[in-house]
Amino acid sequence: MAALDSFIEGLADESIRVVDLTSPLHADTPLLMLPPEMGQTAPFELEEISRYDDRGPAWYWNNFRTGEHTGTHFDAPVHWVTGKDLHDVAQVPPTRLVGPAVVVDCAAQVQADPDYLLDAADIQAWESDHGALPDGSWLLLRTGWSARADDPEAFANADAQGPHTPGISPSAARYLAESGILGIGVETVGTDAGAAFGFEPPFPCHAMVLGANKYGLTQLRNLDKLPRTGAVVVAAPLPIVKGSGSPCRVLAFVAV
Ligand code: MN
Repeated sequence: MAALDSFIEGLADESIRVVDLTSPLHADTPLLMLPPEMGQTAPFELEEISRYDDRGPAWYWNNFRTGEHTGTHFDAPVHWVTGKDLHDVAQVPPTRLVGPAVVVDCAAQVQADPDYLLDAADIQAWESDHGALPDGSWLLLRTGWSARADDPEAFANADAQGPHTPGISPSAARYLAESGILGIGVETVGTDAGAAFGFEPPFPCHAMVLGANKYGLTQLRNLDKLPRTGAVVVAAPLPIVKGSGSPCRVLAFVAV
């Protein structure tokens, strides 16, 4: 296949670069915190089984425990009540894990206002500059928030009113739900803004995008290394049977 041959050549001569969009998983990986009366997701934990010792002289291995929605992760449609009859993470067809990426950059707006919300009109303005959102694409929202990812307090950015983190407005969620994209990827702890509990509907990205059989990707980084269009993104969640999501390796191929 000529296309795969030139892809392999591009990897070898580095005219195609692989950019890792994934945050590392460890005990301090930031987590979504819900009000205390609700169920909580578990932090990532490693439990050593053996490390070249009397429990296993030649091998090192661990058990791990974590929430499905810890760190860079994939939200399957069944995660939200609006998608309860749709796919779990193991049922998502592999062809819908790979697609062209479009990057919407609102880092400057977020710098000025951490509660910044991307609106449908902003997506339409992006489309008039760069063309219509391609069918089967990942829309990646670049906010610059990943610069805070190693400081849990700055990443959560919460005060008495709750978290102040950027996201998308209900109108943008509706617009994306009605589009042909695969899903939306963000740098924050979840695909909705920190204040989205109070939106109408609450958590509009989860409610509308997952309800439209699309996906979410979170806690991405290195989005500044992608062009506005032209990268290809591979999202690789674990096929957890009946899972609502999974920690996920997300890689981008970029032509340089
Ligand atoms: Mn999630």
